[in-house]
Amino acid sequence: MSDWMESDTFKAQYNGAEDFAGRVPRPDEFPEDPSTSRSYWIRNHTIELDQIWRDRALPEETDVVIIGSGITGAVVAFQLSEQQPDIRVALLEARGICTGATGRNGGHICRPEVCHFDETVQAFGDEDAMRLKKFAIRNRDMMIECIEKLDATEKVSLRLNGTVVVFETENERDAFQKDIDYATSKGYKSEGYIIGPEEAATKLDLDASRTNFGAAILEKSGTIFPRKFVDVLLQTALRRMPSLTIHPYTAVESVSRPDSNNSLYKAHTTRGVIQSKAIFHATNAYAGHLNVDLQGADGVFGAKGHMLGINPNVTGCRKQLQQGFGYGDFWHYLQQRPGNGPFLYGFATAELLNDYDDRITLPADHEVRAKMLGFLERMFPEWFQNLDISRDVPYDWTGIQGFTMTGASIVGRPSKDSLGEFASVGHNGEGMGRCFASATVATEAMIAYLLGKSYQTPDWFPEAFRRNI
Ligand SMILES: Cc1cc2nc3c(=O)[nH]c(=O)nc-3n(C[C@H](O)[C@H](O)[C@H](O)COP(=O)(O)OP(=O)(O)OC[C@H]3O[C@@H](n4cnc5c(N)ncnc54)[C@H](O)[C@@H]3O)c2cc1C
Repeated sequence: MSDWMESDTFKAQYNGAEDFAGRVPRPDEFPEDPSTSRSYWIRNHTIELDQIWRDRALPEETDVVIIGSGITGAVVAFQLSEQQPDIRVALLEARGICTGATGRNGGHICRPEVCHFDETVQAFGDEDAMRLKKFAIRNRDMMIECIEKLDATEKVSLRLNGTVVVFETENERDAFQKDIDYATSKGYKSEGYIIGPEEAATKLDLDASRTNFGAAILEKSGTIFPRKFVDVLLQTALRRMPSLTIHPYTAVESVSRPDSNNSLYKAHTTRGVIQSKAIFHATNAYAGHLNVDLQGADGVFGAKGHMLGINPNVTGCRKQLQQGFGYGDFWHYLQQRPGNGPFLYGFATAELLNDYDDRITLPADHEVRAKMLGFLERMFPEWFQNLDISRDVPYDWTGIQGFTMTGASIVGRPSKDSLGEFASVGHNGEGMGRCFASATVATEAMIAYLLGKSYQTPDWFPEAFRRNI
């Protein structure tokens, strides 16, 4: 679970729940041309569906309207194509396909389980804390199974070389050990474990002086090219489901519910109206714009995160960081792209609550960049020396995460008074570790609704995430 309320970064910005009851903007208020994006992922993978589908007419009526084309919207389309290939589905996206958080994140699929288990038990009780603890691992397994079934490991650049989180302090290591011990006493079998300074240094091919307190490691973990995964899911769904249509640059302005004159929902878009039996909100940080039940203290609010892509600048460096890498409780998270490519590096200290403009990166002289470059020079001197922002940093971008007050995602129906509306939103900076399983469960609930059947969430699904299903 996210512990954003505990962090100094957010505490300083947080003035109370009423802060988050304000207007939530729509993504197309911040237009950006994908071909000039400063996100590594967006610039290095063109989604051809954008051009193919851009000007196609909207259908007048479908069974399902999916709003949003990040990993959540793509998983919903994919699962519908697997389970109900004959239904009619329209997927709508305000900007280019996959240009929200999924096109701007760190690409880490999982990490050693540090989720402050005692606090989670206090907040959600023993049983649900256990479900929450196991959830990221289950999500990882579902995602990997899907990628392998589609024979897409290479295509989506899935690298399962492990995720190593180097401890910054002795206290951090002791807290991690305490967390594992406490979870074990409750019956949890942790896959993540601690390794000593030497072993950590050997694994990462670093000098041992940089891993003084050892590290936590999760072996079956690593990184992915998230935007390519979305592309593969959507192309698969299009092949399997003849009535799927995809509409980039089509923002939904409002959703109206069925009334006494009309039994269908209406999605009012910038390009016309579509009627449907069900609506799926895959809108994450922007969910509150379309649905009041997803606003305010029980809803989702935006938190802007920042990332840099930095080219190694030491001549002749042949080293390659193979693993997903974290430092200081994953506060620093980074990976190196293959072939001695750039390090993609996020440092959560720079995050901003309630800021949705993902075109604007940090001011040029923001101190956090100097800190990041300094960290790279200290931790990875074989790759980086005397870094220069204008010469060595070709990528510098922001993305909007969807946070919730409790840290739990919102999966199910936004309101029990609107039975045909579903959502999977508010994934708190952990989307690659939550979205696949969450979207799958919400899609199954929606299919049951369309078929007039009852639905029960699987035993493993956290109660804390479940809303009105
Ligand atoms: C800087 C950063 C680093 C991160 N790093 C990681 C990481 O390493 N690992 C990890 O697990 N998670 C990470 N995350 C979090 C993760 O990226 C998200 O949780 C996840 O991508 C959410 O996916 P989604 O599909 O739900 O939302 P999004 O990818 O944001 O998709 C939502 C889509 O809905 C569209 N939309 C919204 N409103 C409308 C509307 N009215 N009409 C039409 N379309 C609309 C948006 O344009 C957007 O494309 C990071 C996030 C950021 C910002």
